[in-house]
Amino acid sequence: MQKYKYNPSSLVADEFICHDEVVESIEFAQHHKNDIELLKQILKKAREEKGLSHREALLLLMNDLPEINQQIKKLAKQIKLDFYGNRIVLFAPLYLSNYCVNGCTYCPYHAVNKNMPRKKMTQQEIESEVIALQDMGHKRLALELGEHPVMNPLDYVLESIDTIYKIKHKNGSIRRVNVNIAATDEKSYTKLKDAGIGTYILFQETYNRERYEKLHPTGPKHDYNRQTEAMDRAMRGGIDDVGIGVLFGLSTYLYEFTALLMHVEHLKTVFNVGPHTISVPRLRPADGINPALFADCISDDIFVKIIACLRIAVPTAGMIISTRESKETRERALELGISQISGGSKTSVGGYSNPNDENNDSAQFDICDNRTLDEIVYWLLENGHIPSFCTACYRKHRTGEQFMKLCANKSIHHFCHPNALLSLQEYLTDYASSQTKTLGEKVIAQEVAKLPDASAKFVLQHLADIKEGKGRDFYL
Ligand code: SAM
Repeated sequence: MQKYKYNPSSLVADEFICHDEVVESIEFAQHHKNDIELLKQILKKAREEKGLSHREALLLLMNDLPEINQQIKKLAKQIKLDFYGNRIVLFAPLYLSNYCVNGCTYCPYHAVNKNMPRKKMTQQEIESEVIALQDMGHKRLALELGEHPVMNPLDYVLESIDTIYKIKHKNGSIRRVNVNIAATDEKSYTKLKDAGIGTYILFQETYNRERYEKLHPTGPKHDYNRQTEAMDRAMRGGIDDVGIGVLFGLSTYLYEFTALLMHVEHLKTVFNVGPHTISVPRLRPADGINPALFADCISDDIFVKIIACLRIAVPTAGMIISTRESKETRERALELGISQISGGSKTSVGGYSNPNDENNDSAQFDICDNRTLDEIVYWLLENGHIPSFCTACYRKHRTGEQFMKLCANKSIHHFCHPNALLSLQEYLTDYASSQTKTLGEKVIAQEVAKLPDASAKFVLQHLADIKEGKGRDFYL
């Protein structure tokens, strides 16, 4: 195996995700495991809220000293509050097509799975899905597609984005479309940016090259470099908000955690801006997929500790947890740094407009949190979070470096908090159950009382406008 030297500024996958550096970091952390003095120093640095290196964060993750772990939890929560407040942004995935040419062994969409009925939505079907999502109250979507150059070409994705943005049903509208499609070329990324997408999301699946190549035996996704260097192409193509993640369970979590943070270091070094979001998907049972076959599944305790350590290591990144996780796990994760969650999700093509399709046979994987969006909103409110449907930042061109600057100096709250409250009021007025509406309006009143005068005035004015039906979509 060729030797590479870790170089975060390199554009070569094996240099910025350097296998030897990952292995040496794990050995170093094992050697210094539970070194209380070192851990205290790292925590002291972490309290400055400027992030940690991959090695420092790994030492936190690997320690098993109860007093240090208590401090990690407390700090992760504090950092979440300092950078993202008590707001939790809500979104839903929208599966457009499950045609796929790849051979990902853990995903039922893989090309050789003949049990999976293949579906690709027409623009009319997309319209029905979007109306169903708008009627739930969603404003932000993540588009999901298998990779299939013939069935799902980029033009189909672009046309679908255009369709989605144009649909206005009652007071509904989708105001931010994030896109999770296979790695592509720079020109295609530019076209996605021009189509008005929010974040481009791509999970690395696993950063371990050997494992990656084994788990992706066929199809264009087999190419580890194409996958690992995709965010660089996206950035060069003009997408400055990128969302990274690994699929936990595919390789050892220590490897993934370390490499993920090296990816963050690379993006910061080369583009001066870290990932807009970090997702933490975990492998789920799916048609023909038994997660037990993947030896690297992680326990809930390790999973939430990973979340806490990522939060501390990358304070400015939004952190996403999906309905792959149970209510209980999500509750724990929300206390440790998560800032975005999905709700009321379906992972099948056409699942929102055909909810009674008992077979749900085009579903990508089993969902663990099956609650409705209204139940999720109520639960968030009950637990002291502010559910937010805000999509203002990218519409106000607060993206990439600009967003990160505002986030890093903790001034993003001045925009996000008023916007979150107004978007929540829209939800309460247009879609909520009476129980959720009552609780939500009480919480909004408490939050408005904490705002500076100018923001409070702006919010109060538009809260009234929303309630009186004078308008929607007010934001700073
Ligand atoms: N096709 C796109 C690509 O190649 O990147 C992404 C779309 S896919 C619908 C979204 C993500 O689902 C994948 O990146 C993978 O991490 C995740 N996924 C696949 N199989 C899964 C499973 N069995 N359990 C949980 N997540 C899974």
